[in-house]
Amino acid sequence: MNTYHIDDNGYYGIYGGAYVPEALHRCVEELKNNYRQVLDSEDFKAEFELLLRDYVGRPSPLYLARRLSEHYGCKIYLKREDLNHTGAHKINNAIGQALLARRMGKRRIIAETGAGQHGVATATVCALMGMECVIYMGQTDVERQHVNVERMKMLGATVRPVTSGNMTLKDAVNEAINDWCAHLEDTFYLLGSAVGPHPYPDMVARLQSVISREIKQQITEHEGRDYPDYLVACVGGGSNAAGTIYHYLDDERVHIVLAEPGGKGLDSGQSAATLHLGKPGIIHGFKTLVMQDEKGEIAEPYSIAAGLDYPGVGPMHANLIARHRASIVAVNDDEAIRAAYRLTRLEGIIPALESSHALGALDKMKLRPEDVVVLTVSGRGDKDIETYLANPPQ
Ligand SMILES: *Cc1c(COP(=O)(O)O)cnc(C)c1O
Repeated sequence: MNTYHIDDNGYYGIYGGAYVPEALHRCVEELKNNYRQVLDSEDFKAEFELLLRDYVGRPSPLYLARRLSEHYGCKIYLKREDLNHTGAHKINNAIGQALLARRMGKRRIIAETGAGQHGVATATVCALMGMECVIYMGQTDVERQHVNVERMKMLGATVRPVTSGNMTLKDAVNEAINDWCAHLEDTFYLLGSAVGPHPYPDMVARLQSVISREIKQQITEHEGRDYPDYLVACVGGGSNAAGTIYHYLDDERVHIVLAEPGGKGLDSGQSAATLHLGKPGIIHGFKTLVMQDEKGEIAEPYSIAAGLDYPGVGPMHANLIARHRASIVAVNDDEAIRAAYRLTRLEGIIPALESSHALGALDKMKLRPEDVVVLTVSGRGDKDIETYLANPPQ
């Protein structure tokens, strides 16, 4: 069948797969052999659903933003992942993977984090479940994201600063992978986005797919049909977008719009717009579009939103673009800031800087009065207030 979902070999078209060193092969295989069976089991589903409801606060509302709709001349609904416990969508995935880890007999959780959001979500879930937690974070990020480091520590996690390479996310991932290799028996690597070697992209997409499952039901209540005309989400690695579109991937009545970080502009040399600028390559154990310099080395990405500056992108998304199933919009720093202030002043909702990129995409879409748009607000902006105030809209 012609589908945009993953195939039996762990690929989305030519993207995906598992390109890992021999030493890691065993861990990835163990995960691959277990994840579907566990995620599909009644016992897992019951525990996951209960925590999503009572701990995360799901379902997250689907909110008809009337003043924003009026501004754009169409109907815009916001999927409010910003209202989740810990303030973003990442908790959905963290809970799911921790439940899987426990069922696989692993007691120790490791994770990487850039901005610190995934580290906080992971540390939160480890506190909840009484598991040991080690978070790898580039030294540069440790300094930049001081408050999140303190949160992780308060939650009982050990934060290990990484001083190799540029001392950012990419280096933290490498250290986490080394740790995983060395402690295979008792350790589970809890990955934060829809990236990494198969089965991670598919597993994370499934755990986040609760977002589109809820949208289906909620949009039916509002509109009397179970699909919108447009789905809009921002893309860093691609997990909130994957969750938003999961149950609509093969429903071509729905236009998918992915907003990626243009940074200071596509031609500026300071961007993280991987879907625009990347070339096929391998990063962190999977094949995807990768931002590269002239020598083919992985380029250092830039975005004002720390959660979006990843030099790769999920394989599902790379394939959606290759097959023209989704359109891609690059939203620059200043455009995202403008969109954030607009939402704040029209609706009283301060979005995360990452989510502001999805909002900025609205300015670049040709919307008609009869269009129904669902846009995912992936997180709340409390963490970004200093950046917003330092960068007033131009
Ligand atoms: C981490 C993060 C993102 C980007 O990650 P995806 O995997 O692309 O969803 C987006 N929004 C918020 C609020 C985040 O914390």
